Amino acid sequence: MRKSLIVISGPSGAGKTTIIKRILSDPELKDKIMFSVSHTTRKKRKGEKEGEDYFFVSEKEFREMIEKGEFLEWAEVHGNLYGTHKNNIEKAEEENKILLLDIDVQGAEKIREKMKEKAVFVFIRPSSIEELKKRLISRGDTPEKEIEKRIKDAQKEIEEEKKFDFVIINDNLEHAVNKLKEIAKKVISENQK
Ligand code: ADP
Ligand code: 5GP
Repeated sequence: MRKSLIVISGPSGAGKTTIIKRILSDPELKDKIMFSVSHTTRKKRKGEKEGEDYFFVSEKEFREMIEKGEFLEWAEVHGNLYGTHKNNIEKAEEENKILLLDIDVQGAEKIREKMKEKAVFVFIRPSSIEELKKRLISRGDTPEKEIEKRIKDAQKEIEEEKKFDFVIINDNLEHAVNKLKEIAKKVISENQK
């Protein structure tokens, strides 16, 4: 079965965004992969760009989109709402690209229920919770209270990793990037057969 989706999940601070940005700027991959820009009710962090990192919307707008059935999947994560718009899938199909999703474990479960055969599931985490905490603190854009919530949620999220096709331990960034590159190249080459 040809795969057209790569679903990335993992606890907050694992390095998902960092690794994904490297994949999306890789000369061999960047024309073949599209990032699924999610909608969220979370506040924009410094440096984040509307339409590039997320579409930032109010809770009212988000709830209206749920009502209209616009999301392929959505979930409440660490106290905010996040969702994948159905347009993202359509756009990737039109452009004949692999869609790369950075979604939480609940979102990954929904994709498993709806279109498991089309997706490859990758879980990313560092080898310890202490390292996660260190990374969230050093990233410097998340209030302390929220870091505590994210660390608490991380314990439960990590229990889900056995449901994923691949687990990447991001202790060494270069190794982790290379592993995801290998997976992405395999998905692309199978898709082109
Ligand atoms: P996520 O998207 O999973 O929440 P980020 O990509 O924002 O995580 O990474 C969290 C922080 O950890 C960032 O400051 C990032 O630079 C840093 N980081 C990412 N990978 C590593 C690594 N392998 N070693 C040390 N720090 C890392
Ligand atoms: P952050 O606030 O750190 O950008 O993301 C928090 C969490 O929300 C991460 O686990 C991320 O994967 C998840 N997330 C981002 N977009 C979506 C989405 O569209 N759907 C779901 N279910 N989770 C998402």
